[in-house]
Order: sequence, then structure tokens, then C-alpha cells
Amino acid sequence: ESYKRIADVENKVQAFLTLDEERARQTAKALDDKFSADAANGLLFGMPIGVKDNIVTKGLRTTCASKILENFDPIYDATVVQKLAQAETVTIGKLNMDEFAMGSSNENSGFQKTHNPWNLERVPGGSSGGSAAAVAAGEVLFSLGSDTGGSIRQPAAFCGVVGLKPTYGRVSRFGLVAFASSLDQIGPITRTVEDNAYLLQAISGLDPMDSTSANVDVPNFAGSLTGDVKGLKIAVPKEYLGEGVSESVRQSVLDALKVLEGLGAVWEEVSLPHSKYALATYYLLSSSEASANLARFDGVRYGYRTPNADNLLDLYKNTRAEGFGDEVKRRIMLGTFALSSGYYDAYYKKAQKVRTLIKQDFENVFEKYDVIVGPTTPTPAFKIGENIEDPMTMYVNDILTIPVNLAGVPGISVPCGFDGGLPLGLQIIGKHFDEATIYRVAHAFE
Ligand code: GLN
Repeated sequence: ESYKRIADVENKVQAFLTLDEERARQTAKALDDKFSADAANGLLFGMPIGVKDNIVTKGLRTTCASKILENFDPIYDATVVQKLAQAETVTIGKLNMDEFAMGSSNENSGFQKTHNPWNLERVPGGSSGGSAAAVAAGEVLFSLGSDTGGSIRQPAAFCGVVGLKPTYGRVSRFGLVAFASSLDQIGPITRTVEDNAYLLQAISGLDPMDSTSANVDVPNFAGSLTGDVKGLKIAVPKEYLGEGVSESVRQSVLDALKVLEGLGAVWEEVSLPHSKYALATYYLLSSSEASANLARFDGVRYGYRTPNADNLLDLYKNTRAEGFGDEVKRRIMLGTFALSSGYYDAYYKKAQKVRTLIKQDFENVFEKYDVIVGPTTPTPAFKIGENIEDPMTMYVNDILTIPVNLAGVPGISVPCGFDGGLPLGLQIIGKHFDEATIYRVAHAFE
């Protein structure tokens, strides 16, 4: 069914970088044979799933949408991919993204532009734009994305699907090609909150291969979908409905709050006073980490190697000059500068301190409230090409999602209305490791 739908719509949406129908059919066939023999099949048994192309898959090309990894065939599976195999899902293919997950529109892919299924002239969001578009277009039922500063939630909002960034440490990062290791998390993108809970359940848990994965219980997430939000305390940060947020977005959030109020929840306005520093903090820290993480792509170890070099230094230089796109180079330069001696204290260290203040903002609010609610993005999906010349306007898109990564808390985007035929997303943010409450609220609202 997935491949039938892909044959019908993929030439318009262009969500996939790699499709391996032969391999998917073999997996499906093996599951089919097993099905007749075994009655106790799991909830995700046989489900078609797409995987963002920065999550390594053994024997299935993994490019991070970068020319530098164009022909990279991993020799192992990421932990989440192993877990999907245990849950007996069928991997359909690898999904387009911004190069190395840097971007908000999929326009930074080294290979192709994915289109928003709701309006083909609009971007699907990013960086997990392929993952959100493939689910929205019905090409797969589930997908995995990664979120460093909003890359699951923002495309989910733009494509009208459900996307969750789990608590930092909930899901193993082993086999996720690192962008900013202290912010990156893998998470599920689905059509419904219930599907999302099942998929998170399947990929969560402590992993000896990732020392930042957390040794905490994985609750039965689907069990929290009771529909009951009576007495629940919701905080609405005034900074999230202020300047730059479009009228339609603001209205959709107020409408959502009315629905939740009708179900017995109460809401109050609060302040996250350091929100205005989040964008600058994020771009300093994430670029610093990226400049170190991307040092490994040198033409020796993986993927592309320049043919234009007669000594080792030129090999490094030309491989990287020819292999990386403009946005990736911009971030590597910014990060290298922020970490260089003489500037470290002024930029990197300062940003780390502000990060702590942002985290404390969230902790203060969560002393009194169960969840924080606001928009996922300031506007609906913009036009392809509209922001590409102006990195700052592009960066501002993530202003409402970035603080969540800096604080390490979980956040979801659920569809909450339309503006001119384009979907809008409601963001629900929870306490550390309290995805269950986020799901409960999202499901009651859905
Ligand atoms: N759009 C943001 C960036 O460009 C977030 C990316 C992400 O979450 N991977 O860095």
C-alpha cells in the first residue's frame, strides 16, 4: 500500500532520498510468514515506516542530505532502527532533510526540495521536512525525525501531523549522525497522538551505547490517553503570543485553550523571561557543537573524497569545500569562531550560562503548572524560496521551539486549525520525562 501511494504522489512531494522496495517487500514477506505461526504480534507489527536520513541504517544509504555522504552505506543500525526491527515494522525508505539537520525548510538539502503536501508551493518545514511530508501525504503511517531546535515540531506543524521531541535522554542517540549532541533527540512523527505514543514506546529506553540515554522507567504512554484533563494546570507564556506571531496563529491557540477549558483544565498567563535570548544562545551552542562534530568528515573516513588534491591538507580542504553546502559551512565557521581562544569566554561560556537561566525559567513555571501551551511556529508554512536568501528570517522561525531543546524538556506539536488552507500547530511542553501528560493533553484536545 505504501509503495502504491508513493508511486502516485512522490513525484510531487519528493519526500524520499532512498527507496528500497525490494528490501521492504522481503521484510514484509518474512513478517507475513511469521504472522501465521505466531498469534502474539505487537501493535506496530507490519507497519510501514520512514526514517530520516541522518539515522544510520545498515546496508541502506544514509546521506544526511549531504553531498559529502552521497554514497555512504553504514555498517550498523542505529539503536532506534534495531528497536523498530524488534517491533516488527517495515522500513520503506530514507527521508529528505536539511543538510546535517541545519535548516527549517528542507531547502538546504544537497539533493532535492520536498514540497508541502497541503500546498506544493510551500515548504514542508525542516529539518525533518521529508519525515513530516511523507506522513501527511499518506506515503507512510509513521516516521522518525530528529529535533535539535524544532526540527520535528516545526515540520509537523507545517504539515498538519503530530510530532514529539522527547525529553533529552529518553531515546538513544546511538546511530544518529550528530549535529549538536547536547540538544539532539530522535522522535516520532505520526497522524494521531495514539500512534505517536505507540512509536515512542517502541524506541525509548536506556542504551549502553549512548551514555546520555537515561536510566528511567518507560511508562505505558498509550495508557495515559484517558481524555481526562480535569483540574490540569496550563501555563501560557506571554512571550509565545507576542510580537511576530501571526493573528491566525494566536487565535488558534486561544481557541485550543477554550476547548481545554471546556474539558475542565485551567490556564493562566506566565512569563519565561529569558526567552528573548534563546535564539542567540542556540545558534552559538549548536554551531559550536556542530563545528566539532562535523570535523570527522575529512575525505578519509567516510563518503566523498575530492579528486583535486596532491597533498593531505588539500585533501581535507577541498573535500570539505566541495562536499558541504553553504549553510553547513556558515555554521562550522560560526562555531569555530565562538570556540576559538580569546572568544570562548565571551561567546561559548556566556551562552552556556544563559542556557542555565532558560532552563531555570522552565523549572520555575513547572513548580506550579503541569504543562506549558503555546504555538509551535509564529506563522504557517512559508513559500519555497521566500526566506532562502535571508538566514536570520529563517532562524526566527524556530523561536518558539528552541527553548525546549535548551531546557531538555519534551514538547509536542498537534494540529490545531488552518490559515488559508495551511495547517497550524499547537505546542504542548511538559516536565522532564513527563511525555505521558503531554500525550494526555494532546489526545484530549485532538
Ligand atoms: N532549524 C533549526 C536549525 O536550523 C533547528 C534544526 C533542528 O532542530 N535540527 O538549526
